[in-house]
Amino acid sequence: MHKDIAEILVSEAEIEDICVKLGEELTKAYEGKTPLLVGLLNGCIPFMAQLIKHIKIPMEMQFMAVSSYHGGIASTGDVKIKYDLDHSVAGRDVLIVEDIVDTGSTLKVITELLKYRGAKSVKVVTLLDKPEGRKVTFIPDYIGKTIPKKFVVGYGLDYQERYRNLPYVGVLKPEVYEK
Ligand code: 5GP
Repeated sequence: MHKDIAEILVSEAEIEDICVKLGEELTKAYEGKTPLLVGLLNGCIPFMAQLIKHIKIPMEMQFMAVSSYHGGIASTGDVKIKYDLDHSVAGRDVLIVEDIVDTGSTLKVITELLKYRGAKSVKVVTLLDKPEGRKVTFIPDYIGKTIPKKFVVGYGLDYQERYRNLPYVGVLKPEVYEK
């Protein structure tokens, strides 16, 4: 285990089980459709790559980059689009792929935006959910695992752009960000 990690919350094996289960659920839910998966960069990358291997229907993918943390360990609630989609979502069944939902601000803003742009449906799949952190009403449609209100890193999740490459999700030792 990495020296800056206090405990592992979701192991590599558990992440694979979650992706298999979510992939099966999404395959059934979108049968007969061609969903457009919209990944929120950079955190979605490992999860999206592993999840799509278990989706057994035609699908497309695009990416957006949004920020609400601005380098710290708490959301500012101020959602900025840093990189936008390059194709229209009008008439599409959109499935947003997110690493973690905390306050809910990011996904509330992005789902409303994509509906406003004419998507036929907008749903959200998230690897992790921290419902105790909610500041706005938001319930993801598909959840990999519900976790306590702790700051986690790994498997796409960063602290100041580091730790994204850890193969598991772990709790960062507070002394790392209290330094
Ligand atoms: P929300 O808008 O729901 O507060 O936050 C969503 C975004 O905040 C996530 O995409 C992620 O980038 C970041 N975030 C929320 N909780 C955590 C966490 O525990 N660890 C890390 N590294 N990022 C988090």
